[in-house]
Amino acid sequence: MTDTAASAPSLSSSARGLTYDVVVVGGGAAGLSTASSILKRRGGITVAIIEPSGSHFYQPGWTLVGGGVFKQSQTRRSEKKLIPAGADWVQAAATGFEPDANLVHLSNGSSIRYNVLVVATGLTLDWDAIPGLTETLGRNGVTSNYRYDLAPYTWQLVQTLGRGNAVFTQPPMPIKCAGAPQKAMYLACDAWRRRGLADNIHVSFHTATPGLFGVKEFVPALMEYIKRYNIDLELKSRLTKVDGASRIATFENVGEDGAKATVETEFDMLHVVPPQRAPEVISSSPLAGDGGWVAVDPATLRHVKYENVFALGDVAGTSNAKTAAAVRVQAPVVAVNVLATLDHRPMVADYDGYGACPLTVERGKIVLAEFGYGGKLEPTLPTWLLDGRKPTQLAWFLKEWVMPVLYWDGMLKGRELMVAPHKIGTPR
Ligand SMILES: Cc1cc2nc3c(=O)[nH]c(=O)nc-3n(C[C@H](O)[C@H](O)[C@H](O)COP(=O)(O)OP(=O)(O)OC[C@H]3O[C@@H](n4cnc5c(N)ncnc54)[C@H](O)[C@@H]3O)c2cc1C
Repeated sequence: MTDTAASAPSLSSSARGLTYDVVVVGGGAAGLSTASSILKRRGGITVAIIEPSGSHFYQPGWTLVGGGVFKQSQTRRSEKKLIPAGADWVQAAATGFEPDANLVHLSNGSSIRYNVLVVATGLTLDWDAIPGLTETLGRNGVTSNYRYDLAPYTWQLVQTLGRGNAVFTQPPMPIKCAGAPQKAMYLACDAWRRRGLADNIHVSFHTATPGLFGVKEFVPALMEYIKRYNIDLELKSRLTKVDGASRIATFENVGEDGAKATVETEFDMLHVVPPQRAPEVISSSPLAGDGGWVAVDPATLRHVKYENVFALGDVAGTSNAKTAAAVRVQAPVVAVNVLATLDHRPMVADYDGYGACPLTVERGKIVLAEFGYGGKLEPTLPTWLLDGRKPTQLAWFLKEWVMPVLYWDGMLKGRELMVAPHKIGTPR
C-alpha cells in the first residue's frame, strides 16, 4: 500500500505503508455512520473512507426545503468535518473492485487494499434516462427535490403558481425514500390550499407503481389526502419524455388489460423523481447481484460470496425501504460484523429490514411509515403515543426537530441511540 499512500495526500502517516483494516467506499449516510460505529468500538485500527465529494448532504431535509420549511444550507455540511477521528479520508471515487485481491481502484489512479471492505456508494439518479429532462431542470417550471440545488426551486414554483396544472411523478421501484415523490406533492397542495388556490390548480400524481404506497396499512391515510387535495391519481403511469419549452410531459400508461398508451400532459409545474439504479462501478463489478446491487445476505449484510465484504444503505441488494432510517439500524449491525470478520469470528448481529418513511401529508402532520422486510409494521413508539397509520403532529415534530439532530449528532458520529445491534439468535 506504500504506492497508494504516496498518491493519496490525505492519508495520515499512521496508515502509510499499511493495508487498511477497513476500507469504506462512500462517505454518505451509510459510510460515515458505519466508520464511526466501528471506530467507537475499536480505536487503533486503520480505516479509510473513500469519498469524492467535499460536501455531505442530509437528503431527508430536501423535502422540507422544497416545502419551504428548511433553508437549503441546513442540509449541507463539509465532508471533512464529518470524517470520524481515526479515519483517513481519501478524496477520490472508487472506479473498480477486485474482491479476489482485496483491492479497490480509485479515480486518482491509485489502488487501495483492505482486510474488510464496506460498500456504501448510494445509488445513481438516472436523470438522462428521460429525454429532455436534464436540459430543462431548474427552468420552465421543471424541478425535483431529489437535487440539493433544485429543492429551493420547488418552493419557488409552489409560491409563484397561481393557477394551472401541477404534475408530480414517481419512477419504477426501487427508489430511495419511496414516499418522497408524494411528500413534495402534499406539501405543495397544502400551501396552495392555505392560499385559497386549491380550485385554481389541478394536481396529478403519475406513479409507475401499481399502488400508491408499497405497504397497505398506510394507504388509507394517504388516500384521504389524495381526496382532500382533489389529486388526479394515475397509477402505472411512467414519465418518458419532457419538453420543457412547450411544457409537455409524456407518459407511458399501462391499462387494466396491460395495453400501453402514450399520453401527453401539459404542465405549469412538473416535479420529477428520476429513475434510480445501482452505480455503474458496482453493477459492472464482481460484487453485483440482482439488478446490479451489491449481493449481500439480508440479515448480516455480508456479501454472499466474499466474506470480507459488506454493503449497506441504498446500494445494498436488500428489499428494505432505501432510507437513512434503514441506515441508522444497519450501520451498527455492519460495524460489529466487520469487527467479527477482522477477528475471524462468526457473524454476531442481524438486521430485520427496518426502514421508515415520514410522509409529510400537510404542513405540521406526518404519516410515519415504519416497516421491515415483507412490509411488517415496526413502530418505534407505542401506537397509543404515535400511530404511524394516521397523520400526527408528533411525527412532524420528530421530522423537523428530532431527526436532523439524530442524524448529524447521533448516527454520523456512531452514537447508536435506540439502535443497538441485534444479536443473532436472540429474541427481538
Ligand atoms: C428527496 C429525498 C428525501 C428523502 N427523505 C428521507 C426521509 O425522510 N427519511 C429517510 O430515512 N431517508 C430519506 N431519504 C433517503 C436517504 O437520504 C438515503 O436513503 C440515504 O442517504 C442513503 O445513504 P447512503 O449512504 O446509502 O447513500 P448517500 O447518503 O447518497 O451517500 C452515498 C455516498 O457515496 C458517494 N459515492 C458515490 N459513488 C462513489 C464512488 N464511486 N466512490 C466513492 N464514493 C462514492 C457519494 O458521493 C455519497 O457521498 C431521502 C432522499 C431524498 C433524495
